[in-house]
Order: sequence, then C-alpha cells, then structure tokens
Amino acid sequence: MNASMMQQPLLVSSLLIHAERHHGEQEVVSRRVEGDIHRYTYRDLAARSRQLANALQALGVGFGERVATLAWNGHRHMELYYAVSGSGSVLHTLNPRLHPDQVVWIAEHAQDQVLFFDLSFLPLVEAVAHRLPGVKAFVAMTGRAHMPAKADIPNLLCYEELVAAQPDTFAWPLFDENSASSLCYTSGTTGNPKGALYSHRSTVLHCYASALPDALNVSAREVILPVVPMFHVNAWGLPYAACMVGAKLVLPGPFLDGKNLYELFEREGVTLSAGVPTVWQGLLAHVETNGLKFSSMRRTIIGGSACPPAMMRAFQERYEVSVLHAWGMTELSPLGTACVLKASQEKLPAEQRLAIQAKQGRAVFGVDMKIVDEQGQTLPHDGKAAGELLVRGPWVIASYFKGDGGDPLVDGWFPTGDVATIDADGFMQITDRSKDVIKSGGEWIGSIDLENIAMAHPAVALAACIAASHPKWDERPLLVVVRKAGAEVTREQLLAFYDGKIARWWTPDDVAFVDAIPLGATGKVQKNRLREIFREHRLPTA
Ligand code: ADP
Repeated sequence: MNASMMQQPLLVSSLLIHAERHHGEQEVVSRRVEGDIHRYTYRDLAARSRQLANALQALGVGFGERVATLAWNGHRHMELYYAVSGSGSVLHTLNPRLHPDQVVWIAEHAQDQVLFFDLSFLPLVEAVAHRLPGVKAFVAMTGRAHMPAKADIPNLLCYEELVAAQPDTFAWPLFDENSASSLCYTSGTTGNPKGALYSHRSTVLHCYASALPDALNVSAREVILPVVPMFHVNAWGLPYAACMVGAKLVLPGPFLDGKNLYELFEREGVTLSAGVPTVWQGLLAHVETNGLKFSSMRRTIIGGSACPPAMMRAFQERYEVSVLHAWGMTELSPLGTACVLKASQEKLPAEQRLAIQAKQGRAVFGVDMKIVDEQGQTLPHDGKAAGELLVRGPWVIASYFKGDGGDPLVDGWFPTGDVATIDADGFMQITDRSKDVIKSGGEWIGSIDLENIAMAHPAVALAACIAASHPKWDERPLLVVVRKAGAEVTREQLLAFYDGKIARWWTPDDVAFVDAIPLGATGKVQKNRLREIFREHRLPTA
C-alpha cells in the first residue's frame, strides 16, 4: 500500500534556501587569498550563488556536467558548492596538493567543463591548462584588480565579473534527488584515483545525520571553522551542515598555520573546529609556546587519521577544548562514526574516558558496520576480535564513478580496507589500514597503538610505525620518529617507554630518527613512501 506523503526531493539547494530564509543574518567570514577578511551573510551567499548559477548557464554548463574547483575554504568556494550542485551540475573539488600530472589525469577522467581556481594555484593552473583541451574556461576566483597581468592560460575569466554580470534571480530547479551533486576522488595511494560520485539525496541525508547531537552536534549557536579543506571530502560535509542549522561559518583560506588559525579563532569567537591530527600540532605548538588560552573554542572534531591520546589530553586537560574523534572516508561522504561517550561513561575516571575517546566511535544513524575475518566470517563485537570493517548505508558508495575497479561491494557491504574492533557498546576502534598492518610471525600488530604510545613521549613530535622485513618473523615494527625541536631522546629510551604499556612482543624492534615524515595531499602520513624509504633497513636481530 502506498503512503500518502509528499515526494519532496532532497536537494542541496534546499539547504541554502533554508539558511537564507531562517538564518539570513548569520555571518560567513572568509580570510581570503587576497589577504583581507571578507564578511557577509547567508542572505548574501544565497544571492551570489543565484548570480553564479546564471553565470554557469551563460557559460553553457549543462545538467550533470562537471565543474571543477582548485580552491581553499572561502566564500566563493561556498558559492560554487551551492550554484553548481543547486543548478543540477556536478561540483568536482580537485585536490591542489596533487602533482600536476595527477590533476590532469583526474580532470580529464571527470570531463570537467569549467575550472574555477584560487589565485594561489595560478602556477598549477598554468602547468595543466594546455593539457586540458576539454575545459572550456578557467575562472580566477578574484576581482579585476587582482587578475594576473600575464597568465599562460586559455580562456581566462574573472570570477567577480562573471557574477556581477548576472541578476540575482534564479529559480533552483527541482529534479530527481538521486542525481549527482558532487564528485571527489580518493587519493589513490594504490593504482589510479577513483571517483566517489555523491547524490543530492546522499548529501542531504549525510547532513541530517552528521548534525545530530551524538554525531557532530552542530546548531545555530555554533561558530564553525572547518580547517579540513573543502577539497577534502567536502570539508566533511560542514559547508552543508552549517547551512542546514544556520551556524556562523568562518573560512580560513590558505592561512592554516598555528598563529593565523589562533587569531581567527579568537577574533571570530569560533566554538567548533575540525581537521586532521597533523594540523592541530601547529596550533597546539603555537598556543603552548606563547602561553595562550582559547576563549571561545569548546570542541574540535579530529579525524582522517587516528587522533593520538596525547593530543586529546593536551586539548582537553590544558585548554578545555573537548575532542570529538570521528572516522570516515571518501567513499562514505565521509562520516561513519563519532566518538561521544554514553551517559554511563561520563562518570568514569579520566583515564578510562580517554581510552574510550581514543576509539573512533559509534556508527551514526544510517551507517551499519560489521567486522569480518579473512574468510569473510562475521566477528563478535567484544572489543577484542579485529577484522576488516565493512559498512553500508544511504551515503556509502555502491560503485566508483564510471564503474572503475568493478563492483566494490561484498554481499551488499562496502569493505573499507580498515582493520578494526567493535566493543559491546558499539564503539569501533581502527587498529590499522589493512595495507599497513604489520604481520609478525602470522600475528597482526596494530601500528596505531604503537604510534599513540610514541606520541605520548614528551620528546616526540610525530611518529609512524611501519613493517620492516625480518628474517625470522617476516615483519617487525619499525618506529620512525621526528623529535620535537630541541628535544633529545635515544632509541633505548623510546623503546623502554613501551614497557608495561603494551604486550612485550608488540614493542618495536628499532627506531629511526628522521627530520620529516612524508605527508600526503590530505595531511596523512604516507606509509607506502616510508616503507619504500626503509625497504633496505636492517633490524637488529638479537
Ligand atoms: P585517503 O586517506 O586515502 O586520502 P580518505 O580521506 O577517504 O582517503 O581516508 C579514509 C581513511 O582514513 C580511512 O579508511 C581510515 O583508514 C583513515 N581514517 C579516517 N579517520 C580515521 C580515524 N579517526 N582514525 C584512524 N583512521 C582514520
């Protein structure tokens, strides 16, 4: 029997319409590439997005066609988020930290029609423009005064002129909610990058779920500064969630160092931020060295890679900023789990609470999770059994863009490539990525645990644990460490630091001190590169 309710499609444009109507006066503040602070409201954002939608039409961008961006977090990028998807085209956020060859490969694969870019990426666009004959126009996201005098780019247009030439009336079209809204490529650490093509429906449902109190808990009273870039899985959906709830939005542009971020947090009264662990190191170092405090910041969402408990402790105990550990991936739009304590756990001693917070958390409503062994058998949720994590839900991909890589699903579940445990309360903990697992004598050693312990040592700035080959055990853990500036610690002292914290046979066999650890385009440790660098490393065999 059919129900008798309306079939209102879930569309990205509805988020903007809502923000304009109910939170029209709420501010969107951007630190721009040009160096100034730009300030306007959701009302202005909506009007300029409509102008931009007209401009896209004038450029001949059709329904379902891809529009690329190479841009930081800023108001013009927000306008693109809504104008492109809202008008039925597909927003393709390119990662500007990729190599020009990869940018060309991805833009061609996506068949991008127009490419919008921030001035910081002018050299990159000059390097790729002539290799992208399919791109009809390149639009510099700035005003006439800042347009490059000489640029080796065909069909170069000025963003502000495009917008100014259009009226701010545009009726957002209604169409099937299953139409594509945006496109994001995985980083492709193995093989070519693959595209996750999100729909309007998956985006809006993800937005509802991520805003929930035991998920990211965002509301109109919040001032949100996403440090996570809008080119990294849609800044974890925050540009959509901010409009859904009417939160004030603060966008930091390219200025992501500790000093600039801290100033913006304080000046704009930021209450909630979000980013990968590596960005918070710079911020914490800045507040620590200068003896500063956060006057408004209450929470920060940390995900993308495991948040070391030492970082949580610093935020929570020293600066009264509570850490919300979250897990997700490009293929999940990205949110899968968030680590919010249950009421009964709030009363536990601090150390026990921290141990729970180190987990990646419980599934947000809409996401189903299970762990399986190598034969695909479901493992118990006892917090001990570790196996590959599989997920399903309305914002999990069913296949990659253009069917690349074949059918990724196993019996309707998406295998994440992460190895995890799930406890009886439903808290999931990632122990490793399956390709990073260290297999010692046939047994798995979780590299994240080993890294978390090293990161708690006062002399350690960054630690990564990789498998090094071993004549007897096949693989044993090698700890690669960057020391804090001016700090001293020896191999023996670091290894002794593991005593009593972990099963003895998990203790790394060796420590390699380095000046820097390679980070990928999304700020994560590149373990495949580290493994290459240390391929010939000989572990002590005593
Ligand atoms: P990539 O890292 O390949 O660029 P994603 O940004 O989609 O792609 O990253 C997803 C992966 O990041 C997850 O599969 C997982 O391995 C890792 N990850 C994300 N959040 C966390 C977290 N909180 N703890 C540990 N690992 C995480």
